[in-house]
Amino acid sequence: STAPRLDFIREIIAADVQAGKNGGKVVTRFPPEPNGYLHIGHAKSITLNFGIAEDFAPNSQCNLRFDDTNPTKEETEYVDSIMEDVRWLGYDWGKNLFYASDFFGKLYEFAEQLITKGLAFVCDLNGEQVRQYRGTLTEPGKPSPFRDRSVEENLDLFRRMRAGEFEDGSRTLRAKIDMASPNLNMRDPVIYRILHAHHHRTGDAWCIYPMYDYAHPLCDALEGVTHSICTLEFEDHRPLYDWLIANVDGLPSHPIQREFSRLNLNWTVMSKRKLLRLVKEGYVSGWDDPRMPTLSGIRRRGYTPAAMKVFSKGVGVTKFKALTDYSVLENAVREDLNKVSLRRMAVLKPIKLVITNYPEDKVEFVDVPNNPEDPNAGTRPVPLSREVYIDADDFAEVPPQGWRRFTHGAEVRLTNAFCVICTDIIKDESGKVVELRGTYDDNTRHGKNPEGRPKVKAAVHWVSAKHAVSAEVRLYDRLFTVDDPDAAAGEGGDFIEFLNANSLEVLTEAKLEPSIAEAGPGEHYQFIRVGYFFVDPKDSSAGKPVFSRTVGLRDAFAP
Ligand code: ATP
Ligand code: MG
Ligand code: MG
Repeated sequence: STAPRLDFIREIIAADVQAGKNGGKVVTRFPPEPNGYLHIGHAKSITLNFGIAEDFAPNSQCNLRFDDTNPTKEETEYVDSIMEDVRWLGYDWGKNLFYASDFFGKLYEFAEQLITKGLAFVCDLNGEQVRQYRGTLTEPGKPSPFRDRSVEENLDLFRRMRAGEFEDGSRTLRAKIDMASPNLNMRDPVIYRILHAHHHRTGDAWCIYPMYDYAHPLCDALEGVTHSICTLEFEDHRPLYDWLIANVDGLPSHPIQREFSRLNLNWTVMSKRKLLRLVKEGYVSGWDDPRMPTLSGIRRRGYTPAAMKVFSKGVGVTKFKALTDYSVLENAVREDLNKVSLRRMAVLKPIKLVITNYPEDKVEFVDVPNNPEDPNAGTRPVPLSREVYIDADDFAEVPPQGWRRFTHGAEVRLTNAFCVICTDIIKDESGKVVELRGTYDDNTRHGKNPEGRPKVKAAVHWVSAKHAVSAEVRLYDRLFTVDDPDAAAGEGGDFIEFLNANSLEVLTEAKLEPSIAEAGPGEHYQFIRVGYFFVDPKDSSAGKPVFSRTVGLRDAFAP
């Protein structure tokens, strides 16, 4: 058949559907904890979970579930941003929106049920003691001295935990499983803890909170999830997942957990804890700083949802631990922007070129294609006059070997217009080059090259000085100076030390062709020969666009 090969997760699901499991229905979920903004790694999980629901439609759905069991770290701001990010990627959870906290009552009942069955007990050991008793990979655990409390005593203590009689950390509820299990997660794991903390949704209704490993499988089951897809770190939590699903009665579904390898990218960090530090300690301007690997950051920088989907699909779904090169992501962005961006001329570091044989007051218009990749994009008239700006980088007073652009005596084409020979270099008192002068050849007007005339090899972009619009342009470099900040920091080191002090360059004197003065937020441009740029949605105002470089035209990091 010509059908594309399914990834291993979709293969498992297709087989389950074929076998008629769950009545042929497929329910996945994307379960973020609202303790930060989503990053590029989350996009992989979102496209996987929502993508599966699309692929197995119509008898399928993907839930958005907020895993909000950690009240001290969670905020409504994060809930809102997560919803915005998922929508931005083009997914809609419809009515399938859940919060673990909506199930706190049910989860509590299930805990009493486990106590009643003799499968859970209240333990008075503190955190440190629980760890000591748990043992190690090579050493079996020791049972807690409280393991054999009667059902009545456990129920009484658990109810008093809930009623607020005990201090934080003084007691826990633990599942009674197997202290000799080779899997540490099965050695009587803590399933409830005491925490007198205000929750962003349930307020002060609770002073005990379920642990992630307890809440996650049971919430999956309560929502009717069939396939709970998570990253590989949770593989050895799977026996506990299965134990809970098997031992709690009254669950509406019996989900299975399957694991894939997380997305890792070089040149950045992708842990909410670390991203939070960058924000809180002011190393970036916020979660949506365009240098951040957050979805709000890359959105503001001009990455597109289409590129993110192509990228997420491209990296694939496997069990292999892999490190994806950042350039793979940038290539996906470039490919998409190449199709959708309007071409414009912008001179980022302007130097004036006076064309001395061009009439003083004349203005003419050059017809320039808006997007050579898109025949329907049309052309626009670009004004040309005696004084133009070119980019300082397109001039060299002492040209290096092989230099083809402006230098004294060299002839260069102004893109889409005529050729100019540089005749004079004007300097200020300090010797700094402040202006260039040259003469143009009317025979080369607007792309033409007469028979027999040596062809001019280079063309540079330009902007008519009297028509130019000044704008702020922001260039971004890698956020870190090393490709693996965590490894560079090592044990006990700090990844912050490897921040790139030059990751933001602000150019306030950029000169743009007049047609982009009215550029509106959310528009993508290719500044020809320079890169892809996005109108910053936050800092631009009417008639005063601020441009962010989304990505360069080619991979600056390629060997
Ligand atoms: P972080 O470690 O960055 O805080 P997390 O896994 O704790 O991430 P959650 O909010 O729990 O963040 O993540 C929601 C979902 O996204 C989980 O199912 C998680 O497995 C998945 N996810 C998180 N990071 C990645 C990644 N790098 N690649 C793929 N999936 C990821
Ligand atoms: Mg998590
Ligand atoms: Mg986390």
